Amino acid sequence: MKYYILFGPPGAGKGTQAGAMVETWNLCHLSTGELLRAEIAAGTPLGLQAKALIDAGNLVPDEVVEGMIESKFNSVKDVNGFLLDGFPRTTAQADALGAMLERRGESLSGVVSIMIPDAMIYDRIRHRAEIEGRADDASDAIVRNRIDTYHAKTEPLISYYRARGLYHEIDGTGTIDEVRARIFALLKTL
Ligand code: ADP
Repeated sequence: MKYYILFGPPGAGKGTQAGAMVETWNLCHLSTGELLRAEIAAGTPLGLQAKALIDAGNLVPDEVVEGMIESKFNSVKDVNGFLLDGFPRTTAQADALGAMLERRGESLSGVVSIMIPDAMIYDRIRHRAEIEGRADDASDAIVRNRIDTYHAKTEPLISYYRARGLYHEIDGTGTIDEVRARIFALLKTL
């Protein structure tokens, strides 16, 4: 099984690019943000707990997302691998993922990191807010908090995975097609 992490700041285009990647390589797309939004929409206890944190641009507790990921690893069949989108987001989550994979006798195939400058994050999220209406896209203050959270808690994963020889960065600026071509060229090598 292949296990890829799709990495990058909020608004880098992870969700946009994931579709073509999972189709071409027969992967299961696991977006913790999407899974959490589904819990909120269904009004589950977990969704109720997560909603206030997400709407303010904060992370939900590590155990919550780790549990969601492991249950998908255990239940999803008939795929060649998993594309993790938005997970891990902290080094504690990365350690937990490493332990999960080890228990399964598996290992990470690589981290595909889509990088864009902070200024572009605002433009892309403002555009998405008009289309999707996500509460956490609605105000600049919340987006600023998400970017700050990314720099403080998630960016350390770059050196974490670089030290393990698993980190691969591509330029996330340009058109959707241009970025997809860069990702596909990389994925063929992982
Ligand atoms: P984006 O890529 O635009 O940041 P996501 O859909 O990945 O958005 O995530 C939306 C929100 O869901 C995050 O801001 C956070 O509150 C929560 N979330 C998603 N994944 C995680 C995670 N791995 N750990 C903690 N919180 C998470």
